[in-house]
Amino acid sequence: MATLESLKGVGQASLRELKGAGIATLDDLMGYFPRDYEFRDKIVQFKDGFTFGAQQVKINTVCTVTGQEYFGQTFKQTLKITVSDGTGYASLICFGRNFLANTLKVGRKLFLSGVFQVRFGELQSSNFDYELYSEHPQFFGKILPIYPLSGKLTQNFLRKSVMQAYTLQGQYEENLIPEKLRQLNGLMERRDAIRNIHFPESKEKLEDAIRTLKYEEILLFEQNIKEAVKKRKVVKKRTVRLPRELQRKVASSLPFQLTDDQIEVIDQIYADSNLDESISRIIQGDVGCGKTLIGFLSALPYIEAGMQTAFIAPTELLAEQHVKTASRIFEGTGVRLAFLSGKLTGKKRELLLEALAKGEIDLLIGTHAVLSSNVVFKDLEFAIIDEQQRFGVIQRSALLEKGKQIDYIMMSATPIPRSLEMAFFGELKISTVRTMPPGRKPVITYTVKEGNEEKIYTWVRKELAMGHQAYFVYPLIDESEKMNLKNASQMHEMLSKEIFPEYKCALIHSKMKEEDKERIMTDFAAGQIQILIATSVVEVGVDVKTATCMEIEHAERFGLSSLHQLRGRVGRSELQAYTFLVFSNELTDHAKERLRIMKETNDGFEIAERDLKLRGPGDIAGVDQSGFMNFRLADIFEDIDLVKRIRKDLENL
Ligand code: ADP
Ligand code: MG
Repeated sequence: MATLESLKGVGQASLRELKGAGIATLDDLMGYFPRDYEFRDKIVQFKDGFTFGAQQVKINTVCTVTGQEYFGQTFKQTLKITVSDGTGYASLICFGRNFLANTLKVGRKLFLSGVFQVRFGELQSSNFDYELYSEHPQFFGKILPIYPLSGKLTQNFLRKSVMQAYTLQGQYEENLIPEKLRQLNGLMERRDAIRNIHFPESKEKLEDAIRTLKYEEILLFEQNIKEAVKKRKVVKKRTVRLPRELQRKVASSLPFQLTDDQIEVIDQIYADSNLDESISRIIQGDVGCGKTLIGFLSALPYIEAGMQTAFIAPTELLAEQHVKTASRIFEGTGVRLAFLSGKLTGKKRELLLEALAKGEIDLLIGTHAVLSSNVVFKDLEFAIIDEQQRFGVIQRSALLEKGKQIDYIMMSATPIPRSLEMAFFGELKISTVRTMPPGRKPVITYTVKEGNEEKIYTWVRKELAMGHQAYFVYPLIDESEKMNLKNASQMHEMLSKEIFPEYKCALIHSKMKEEDKERIMTDFAAGQIQILIATSVVEVGVDVKTATCMEIEHAERFGLSSLHQLRGRVGRSELQAYTFLVFSNELTDHAKERLRIMKETNDGFEIAERDLKLRGPGDIAGVDQSGFMNFRLADIFEDIDLVKRIRKDLENL
C-alpha cells in the first residue's frame, strides 16, 4: 500500500510537519478537510473593484503588466507593479517581494487574484497571488481549498500532496454508505465526494460532497453506538462479583470526600460490571468535576480481581498528568502502574510490553501509542477513554479489540444537552456528573468593552502579585491570518515588554512544535511562567491550580462551547478566579446573548442547553463553534435533523 513517503515533494521534514498536524497516512491526508475555500471560479474585474467604495474586494481576473516603479526611502524601496485587465488599472504593492520584478515584466500576461482596496485614488493590493498565463491554469477558474495550517505546512504543499494522494488512492475508495441509503438520500459516491470536498468542480458539487461526507460521518458514529449497545447483549463469562475492598480502601484514604455524583457514578459503573453483558458508558461532566478519579476508582475492582485496565488520553501531557495522579492515589496499594507514550522506545518499550503481556501491569496509562497492534494485554477487561471526542471510531475499536469482553467508559467534557442525548446516544448508558468538588468558587466572569484593557491589566497585576498566574487568549496567531483582530504574537510582544515586563510571559499556539508546547505548559504548571499568551490551544490543557485569571479577547468570535472550555482552565482550586471577556463594538444580538449566558452561569449543561436554543440558521458565520462533539464535518446542533434521519435510515435498513 502506498504511503506518504511515496508522494512527490514529501521528504523527512514534511513528514514530520504532517505528523504534527495528525497526518500519518494517505487516508489521514484525504481526511484532512479544507476549513474554507477560495472561489476563483468567477471573474471579478478591476472595474468591479471600484463599485464598493473603500471596501475590500476580491479580484480575480486576467491582466497584463503595464509598468514597474519603486517608492519609499532609498534603502527600503518597495516595488510597485501596475497592471491592466482591459476594464481598468490596478497596482500591486510588493512588500518584501521586490524579486517579483524579474517575473512580472512589462507585457507579461497573468491570472491575478487578490484582495484589493481603493487607496490614494487607485485600486491597490499587497495581498495578491498570480499565475503566469497559460492554456491550462492550475488555479484560475477553480475553487481552491484552504486547509488549516500548522507548523511549516503551506497551502500549496497541502494542495499538491492531497491531489497526489487522491490520484494514488482516493479515486479507488469504496462507498461506506450502503447503496440503498446512498440512493435514498441522493448522495455522491465516496470517491467523488472526497474529490469534490478538496477540489470542487462547482459550488453545487461541493455542497453535495459535504452532505455526503457528513452523512457518512454520522452514520459511522451511529453504527458505532449501535454496536456498543448490541455488544451489551452478549453473555459474559465473568461469574464472580468483582471485589470492592480496594476501591473502598483507596476512596477512604483520599485527602477529600468524593462528591455525591462521583459516588453515584462509581456505583453505576460497578453495578454494570456485574451484569451479564459488557458495558459501555459515557461519563459526561463539566471540566473539573473530577472524572479522572471516577475512572481510577472504577478500575480498582477489576484490578483487585487480577484483571487489567487501560486508560488512554489524547495528549502526552494529559496522560502524564494522569500517571502522576494515579501514582499518588495508589501509593501503598500494590497497584502496578505503567505509562506508555510514543516517546517510549527501544529496550524500555520492549520490557514494558513484555510485562504487559505477562499480566505484570495492572493499569496502563497512555496516549494513542497504547492502540498500536503490538501492545498486547494478558487480560484487558476494563478501559477508560479520556476526552473521548478526541478519539476516532477506529481508534476506539482498536482499543476494544485488545480484550474479549471489555467494559469501557468514555469521558466527555463536552456536555450534551439532555434534549439531544437520545438523538445521539440512543440506548447507550450515560452518567452525568453535575456537582463540582466542594470549596470550589465559581469563576466570576466580567464582560469588558474593547478599549478598557488597562483595567484588566491592573486586576491581573494584583493577582500576579499574590503569586497567581494568568492566561491571555486571542483568536489569531499572527497578523498574517486576518486583519483587524488582535493576535497572540503581537500581544505577547506588548504584554511581555510593555505591560508586564517584571513577569515571565510565554507564547503558545498550534503552529509550534509539540515539544515546545509541552515545555511551556510544564513550566507554566510549575509556576516558572506567570503569563501564558495563547490561542485556543489551551482549551484542552492541564490543571494549573494557581492560574486565577483569564482574559479572552474578541470573545464574540468564540462559540459558547469554546468559551466555556477556555474558562474551565481557571477556577480549579479554592482560589477565586476571574474571566474577562473582551468584546468589540459591533455585536450581533446572538453574540450579546452568548456573552450574557457566559456571565450568568458556569454550568456547562445549562450553557449547552441555552446554546441549542439560541442557535438559529445563519448565526454562526465567522464564529468558531467547534467543541461540543468534535465531528469533523457535522455539527451536533445544526445537523440534529440529519442525525435523526440517519437513525431512522439505519432502523429501516
Ligand atoms: P475533569 O472532570 O475535568 O477530568 P479532573 O478529574 O481533572 O477533572 O479533576 C479536577 C481536579 O479536582 C483534580 O485536581 C482533582 O484532584 C480534584 N478533585 C476531584 N474530585 C474531588 C473531590 N471530590 N474533592 C476535591 N477535589 C477533587
Ligand atoms: Mg479530564
